[in-house]
Amino acid sequence: MVKQETHLEKYTVSLVSLGCPKNLVDAEVMLGHLPPDRFEIVTDEAQADIIIVNTCAFINDAKEESIETILEVADYKKQGRCRLLVVSGCLPQRYREELAAELPEVDLFMGTGDSARIVELLDAQALSDKALYAVSLPEFLYDHTTPRVKSSPFYSTYVKIAEGCANHCSYCVIPQLRGTLRSRSIDSVVREVRRLVESGVREVNLIAQDITAYGADREDGARLEDLLRELVKIEDLSWLRLLYAYPDGVSDELIDIIAREDKICKYLDIPLQHIDDTVLALMNRRVDETAIRQLLTRLRERIPELTLRTSFIVGFPGETDEQFQRLLDFVNEGHFERVGVFRYSREEGTAAAAMDAQIPERTKNTRYHKLMKAQSRVSFRKNRALKGRIEPVLVEGYSEETDLLLRGRSIRQAPDIDGQVYITAGYADIGEIVPLRITDSSEYDLIGEIVEE
Ligand code: SF4
Repeated sequence: MVKQETHLEKYTVSLVSLGCPKNLVDAEVMLGHLPPDRFEIVTDEAQADIIIVNTCAFINDAKEESIETILEVADYKKQGRCRLLVVSGCLPQRYREELAAELPEVDLFMGTGDSARIVELLDAQALSDKALYAVSLPEFLYDHTTPRVKSSPFYSTYVKIAEGCANHCSYCVIPQLRGTLRSRSIDSVVREVRRLVESGVREVNLIAQDITAYGADREDGARLEDLLRELVKIEDLSWLRLLYAYPDGVSDELIDIIAREDKICKYLDIPLQHIDDTVLALMNRRVDETAIRQLLTRLRERIPELTLRTSFIVGFPGETDEQFQRLLDFVNEGHFERVGVFRYSREEGTAAAAMDAQIPERTKNTRYHKLMKAQSRVSFRKNRALKGRIEPVLVEGYSEETDLLLRGRSIRQAPDIDGQVYITAGYADIGEIVPLRITDSSEYDLIGEIVEE
């Protein structure tokens, strides 16, 4: 496509990134490696010479969405301007060559560890008249020197502090897709965050497969607690948010730092997956019900205003009605402000996929809806209890419905996964964090007025 003799031509590139924020960072690293003298990034696929689909493949639903998106943009090759279709990320990493047979429309396949090789691979593809398959072992780890084009709004971003995972939960393919745990140095993360804050970022969301495992693979003894102590020293950083913590990695020291440091959002995302000891053991999770309840007590005692997000899997092989009822009762106890629910997805290559007593899809759906309904009642109650409080809100723009309403996110709402705040009175610029009095709420959203200071 980008044949040597046409090197001077400038190509437009559009990228669709699916899945989690960790995948989004990989996409931004890919864009960061496209030299502006040869490539122009466009948001409209119809205007793109090169379209990149950065895929997700950790469960069935995600795989289907990835395939649908690839086939959708492949239409631009048939009718439009697009001359090269690139598929990157978890789907090629997982399905390797068999994917090429399924998707003849695709010209270049790249893995989760190949983001920084994008130009080398585009040029190599140019010399080949058939699809190029370049999926290496997932060993890459970006750092503060890695070029990255931020795709999220100027005031907010994700920073990946580690890649891969060494936990091996029995239902999960991520260690196969992302490799084993590899953590960046504290210095590298601090340099990146400092540079981002200098460029106008106010909210930094720290991510990894398991942020509490940060540093466990390093010889310099780096730990999450030490990293946080350095990050809170960065001036003009307003909100530091922690996503994807593993329950037994949440130490008392970590809880103390979250409680004490104003810059660290009183917000924690701890996927628990279940509450029943037998199911947790079959999931190869390192915690049981007692440990989980002790953790919740420690968190609530030390950080009463904490916003707690978690996620559960329903329909895990062998899950009985009683075990599901135990999970439903646990959710009804009202421990969480936010809950994500997944139907167990039987993923080949995982230990759980080989287990007996796989649960019928109909039962999974019933349990999914029951748990979501129970949590929506809890969320509604918890949001209602915030009425009258004054909370910091990050103004993000105008509401989709009408530009008479500003919208934003409260410090209790993470980007892309939690609700929004609709601002009915007062004004502030986009990217500003201002005090807001909460006047009303729904399950997931808040309504309020900016408090003039
Ligand atoms: S902690 Fe478990 S569920 Fe999460 S990425 Fe690692 S193996 Fe998968």
